[in-house]
Amino acid sequence: MQLITNETASTEFGPRRDLRGKSAIVTGSTSGIGLGIAKALAASGSNVMLNGFAERDTIERTLDEFSATYGVRMVYSAADMSKPEDINRMVGEARNAFGNIDVLVNNAGIQHVEPVETFPIEKWNAILAIDLSAAFHAARAVIPEMKERKWGRIINIASAHALVASPYKSAYVAAKHGISGLTKTIALETAEFGITVNAICPGYVLTPLVEKQIPETAKARGLTEEQVVRDVLLHAQPTRRFVTTEEIGALTVFLCTSSARSITGASIPVEGGWTAQ
Ligand code: NAD
Repeated sequence: MQLITNETASTEFGPRRDLRGKSAIVTGSTSGIGLGIAKALAASGSNVMLNGFAERDTIERTLDEFSATYGVRMVYSAADMSKPEDINRMVGEARNAFGNIDVLVNNAGIQHVEPVETFPIEKWNAILAIDLSAAFHAARAVIPEMKERKWGRIINIASAHALVASPYKSAYVAAKHGISGLTKTIALETAEFGITVNAICPGYVLTPLVEKQIPETAKARGLTEEQVVRDVLLHAQPTRRFVTTEEIGALTVFLCTSSARSITGASIPVEGGWTAQ
């Protein structure tokens, strides 16, 4: 049995540049939460591979800005997270660019809001592929080298919907509950190898994903968009405010530090008290 890893405990909390020399892949990081996580990792000294869809110019600007501001290596993969072969290619590209992959953040995700009886089958399949299966394929591809080097961090961006359900989000809630189970399973399989695997469960963060579901939810529930924001989204969160991408980025960085090495298999709510109710 392996009792000692090559990682020592640190009593420091949240030091800047704590992740110098590490390299991370953040899927779905051209926008919203993933972009916030990529920025927080880069600010902590980690090289970062961005991924996701956006205009080439926008991606180039982000790569240049983060590498100039934080002095880290930034690269981009256009891999489509609905395609297992693309995911394997992305991991290969990161390995070629950085040598090692220390941190994998499975963040890419999509949403669709509609009653189950009319929920389009292609939307169900796409949400399961991108929000759940992609995390399996990416973890599967990076774990052998993490095990070999006895250090690794896998962080799955789940949702409060990994812990509780809401109506009209059958595929999303199923995928996010699935991510929580996948997180626990991989955490158990890798616990003796210096690897931690956790899920972060954000409440509502005002990103393009949420902006898009406001009119969909208004239609599904027969409400105005203002009513959806006040009476559905923020009503779920006792703090009555949106969670920020900076808050999710900060927790991601903390989970990557040695201070967090005993946190594994957890689904950590960052949702303003939503699931405490
Ligand atoms: P977003 O729409 O702003 O960003 C999604 C990112 O995923 C983008 O970079 C997009 O290009 C990328 N993406 C989408 N499909 C892809 C594909 N097939 N291949 C590669 N990249 C793809 O959304 P967000 O709100 O930042 O969501 C990010 C994650 O956080 C998702 O997993 C989402 O479920 C989760 N989440 C969001 C909220 C919220 O309130 N915004 C709450 C809880 C959890």
